[in-house]
Amino acid sequence: MVASIAIVGSGPGGFYAAAALVKQVPDCRVDVIDRLPTPYGLIRAGIAPDHQSSKKIAKTFERTATHENVRFLGHVEVGKDVSISELREHYDAVVLATGAPEDWTLGIPGEDLTGVFGSAEFVAWYNAHPDKNDLAPDLGTHAAVVIGAGNVALDVARLLAKTETEVRATDMAHYAADAISEAPINDIYIFARRGPLQAAFTHKEISEFGELENAVTLVDGSILPSEDEQLIEKGRGSQGKNIKFLREYAKNKGDEKPVRIHMRFYARPVEVQGDDFVKSIRMERTELKEDGSCVGIGEFFDVPCNLVVSCIGTWGNKIEDVPYDEKRRLFVNSEGEIEPGLYASGWAKRGPTGTVATNHPDGVAVAKHIAELTPDPAKAGPTGLDGLLAERGVRVVSFEDWKKIEAAEEESASHGAPRRKFTEIEEMLAVLDKG
Ligand code: NAP
Repeated sequence: MVASIAIVGSGPGGFYAAAALVKQVPDCRVDVIDRLPTPYGLIRAGIAPDHQSSKKIAKTFERTATHENVRFLGHVEVGKDVSISELREHYDAVVLATGAPEDWTLGIPGEDLTGVFGSAEFVAWYNAHPDKNDLAPDLGTHAAVVIGAGNVALDVARLLAKTETEVRATDMAHYAADAISEAPINDIYIFARRGPLQAAFTHKEISEFGELENAVTLVDGSILPSEDEQLIEKGRGSQGKNIKFLREYAKNKGDEKPVRIHMRFYARPVEVQGDDFVKSIRMERTELKEDGSCVGIGEFFDVPCNLVVSCIGTWGNKIEDVPYDEKRRLFVNSEGEIEPGLYASGWAKRGPTGTVATNHPDGVAVAKHIAELTPDPAKAGPTGLDGLLAERGVRVVSFEDWKKIEAAEEESASHGAPRRKFTEIEEMLAVLDKG
């Protein structure tokens, strides 16, 4: 008897789990289900479009997707086309790899004004995710504000600062490349509520701010830590190394290039101001407390801007009948096990942290649990799901179909871009209709 496993979500959390399963559970049958016709989750719609080398992992996932015991079922929405309880009826195990697609909110007045976006929606927009192709942020502003000091904040600020040549060479959605190319933005503010040694971004990402064609990065050198403090931090990862780059940027004057990126520390947002549209953001200066957190010191300043992108982290959606940790906003689990037969992998398991490869051990842990299960001969596995989907008239997009969509995207690329992404599901299905 072989085990059958359904994985919900085809991003890194899903594909690392599939890869570990075929390795660790002999002869198991794995179905990787995604509601989009395209696989790879954040590899396609999260990683910045100018970071193509980070997307190469898709080739490894492709080897898993084409393994004889693995299927990709795209364009199947769990919760609409099939429920979790139906999957559990048919498969020995179900793995939730549904990511963390929702934005945390700032919790300050004015954040609902037009022109304020969360990073999850903004990133999905520029990455051509069909859910957010109509976001249409108005980039017709001279100043943009990015809140947060993580790698997503750096992605957003860097892309907004790029020239037409720079963005056209990426696989950014064509509408986003148009909007960024035409945007009159010449000041981009990145606000970190704590100091440079507490920043969550990593040195490779901050180093790229020295390589922008049209933009210069500015930092107030007086707030950078002394060499001693930096040495203390060195053992703690990237933060010490970040300072080297920040010191370089502190030497810039601001008139070197037409666009200025202001990297500001010790400031937190307290109010977004405007009528319907954002007109400015009020910031409060902060200081660090002994425990590493920060506190406002009652000194305020306003930054005029018509665009605010809040990059302060994301969380994962609930699924009916699946235990959910309301505080951390992820599935309650122990080493990936929610309960016997139901598992979580990737950001749905541990929240949005780490690099793509950080999801690898999650997959291994899930496969370890599943390897210990005794397959149930009464479970129909993939044939059970196929029956349900056929009965409901669901148009399943196979991996072979996806390869046709991918080829069409690659064929229509220009300006040295790797692909021109479809932005609508209908466009993708039309490629398949053409045969
Ligand atoms: P993140 O790394 O957790 O950074 C979130 C930032 O938002 C932190 O600086 C945090 O400051 C700040 N923040 C949180 N709440 C705030 C508030 N209320 N007001 C002001 N600031 C607030 O999250 P992320 O940037 O979304 O990235 C998610 C994960 O993906 C990370 O592991 C990241 O490294 C990874 N990623 C990697 C890459 C890459 O490798 N190139 C690219 C993108 C993302 P505090 O520290 O003070 O809380």
